[in-house]
Amino acid sequence: MPGTSDQTNAPHRFGRAEHDIVALGIATAAIILFVSTGSTVLPQAIRGLAGVGLGPEKLAVNALLLNIALIIFGWRRYRQLALEVVERRRAEEQEQRLAQTDPLTGCLNRRSIGPATDALITQSAVRGEVVALLMIDLDHFKQINDYNGHSAGDAVLEGCARRIELLLPDGAILARLGGDEFAAATAFDPRRAEAVDGIATAILEAIAKPFTTNGITLETGGSIGIARSDAHPDCGEYSADRVSGHTLMHMADIAMYHAKKRGRGRYFWFEASMESELRFRGKLEAGLRNGIPRGEFVPYYEQQIDLQTGELTGFEMLARWNSPELGLVNPTIFIPIAEEIGLISELSECLIRQALEDARRWDPRLTLAVNISPLQLRDQWFAQKLLKLLVEANFPPHRLEIEITESCLHDNMGMVRSLIASLKNQGIRVSIDDFGIGYSSLAQLRTLPFDRIKIDRSFVSNLANNRNSAAIVQAVTQLGRDLGLPITAEGVETREVLHKLLEYGDIKGQGYFYGRPQPAAETHRQLGQLDLLRPENGHEMPPAMPAAPTEESRRANGL
Ligand code: C2E
Ligand code: CA
Ligand code: CA
Repeated sequence: MPGTSDQTNAPHRFGRAEHDIVALGIATAAIILFVSTGSTVLPQAIRGLAGVGLGPEKLAVNALLLNIALIIFGWRRYRQLALEVVERRRAEEQEQRLAQTDPLTGCLNRRSIGPATDALITQSAVRGEVVALLMIDLDHFKQINDYNGHSAGDAVLEGCARRIELLLPDGAILARLGGDEFAAATAFDPRRAEAVDGIATAILEAIAKPFTTNGITLETGGSIGIARSDAHPDCGEYSADRVSGHTLMHMADIAMYHAKKRGRGRYFWFEASMESELRFRGKLEAGLRNGIPRGEFVPYYEQQIDLQTGELTGFEMLARWNSPELGLVNPTIFIPIAEEIGLISELSECLIRQALEDARRWDPRLTLAVNISPLQLRDQWFAQKLLKLLVEANFPPHRLEIEITESCLHDNMGMVRSLIASLKNQGIRVSIDDFGIGYSSLAQLRTLPFDRIKIDRSFVSNLANNRNSAAIVQAVTQLGRDLGLPITAEGVETREVLHKLLEYGDIKGQGYFYGRPQPAAETHRQLGQLDLLRPENGHEMPPAMPAAPTEESRRANGL
């Protein structure tokens, strides 16, 4: 740390300065003495040699010699000190350079990019130019580090720095902010912002090209956020004449985050609306963190129906956030955030715990289906955690069904396979959810021991008026028959769809046609009316399973 080295150097420097003064004092005194003794001794010596006088006194000669020795000593000391000063200055410059640059890439570092951008803004203003700051973040860099080691990661970072440098105009600055983040600042003519667009596009193309290191080829990509120092007219509070380097970095960072959200490999200029989006996201994150312990996340239940008989067979639990600030929030909003901020396990466990408690009071023939995030499948303790919840709730595993979305089969098949096996060993059933949109191969479907296929609602809901969807639904139901896997169709919204589905054979269905997902209390009330609640002693079974759906669906089924 520069602060520390400054402190350690301070006494040392002070000591040198003292020596400097002593050496200078000695040399000056010696010269004065030399002038005074020399001026008497030398003429006497010359006269003595010429035989005109007695020559100098011995004492005076000794004094003169001592004097000359002192001058030589002083001069040498002076030379030595001068060399030391040069050396010290060089070391200080080196120290300063290290404090300002990133040791791996030789670019500026996070600390120095702000002041360097400030300087660039001031210089460019003289020429009527403004500064664009590009925040460049590499995509999936962590995977390169994890799978190929840190030296491969370092090689990619160095390679990126060199490629970016080549694309920047003269006078531009480049910094590595740490990790896989770079920032570049360049001056441009405010009437020709497309020049900056060109640079951003070229950088994205350059870093997306493969890198080869130690015989392996590595690929990355990037996302860029750009902010300009004259700020855009619609940049709200940033629309001051000129913003500082520090604020520019903040704005570019927001735009970069936006680019990442929009699907990476692209760039965005900062706009004020992005910041409000980010603030909203921050609010959601904080709400999520605080809402879990406060019990704001609750299970809702959607009926699952045997389409042929119209019987209620169970419920799918769908998470809802009862936020005091935002009202009832859907899982499509908060589940991805919970995944990103590492709260998905905690949230899911809290919901499943409540759902098991609710479902314990239902008729024992009714099943409970829960959705599991792909991230939870990577948790090697997931099966154990689930078993613990089942034991705590005293809930029979065969009544629980886990829904795994098709898309998560693409990464880490080995792990998914062993997880499914251990869930099945416990008696839990496993369905493949959203089937049809994730392009999983038939081979995968055959090798993974699923218990059920759920056809994605995008095919089901427009089954009646889209021939392609109808063909897919038909093909999937046939596939289910061939593999001996029962089928559930999600998104049954209308009677027409129901009738169409009935043509495909023995399948289950769920959707708004049978009712919207409802909270636990309402589900409880509905089951009470249908005489589908477990009797208080918990052992008696109702004689037969009556039909559960709405009046309309009963009529549709001819019941
Ligand atoms: P999903 O598993 O496909 O759940 C079905 C979604 O479709 C639900 O949306 C449901 O309300 C909606 N839906 C049901 N019937 C119909 C219909 O007839 N028409 C239409 N258009 N939509 C219908 P929701 O509740 O917003 O859930 C969205 C997704 O969030 C779920 O999709 C599921 O993937 C995920 N999700 C829900 N709860 C959880 C949870 O506890 N954990 C995890 N990891 N994901 C969850
Ligand atoms: Ca589902
Ligand atoms: Ca689905």
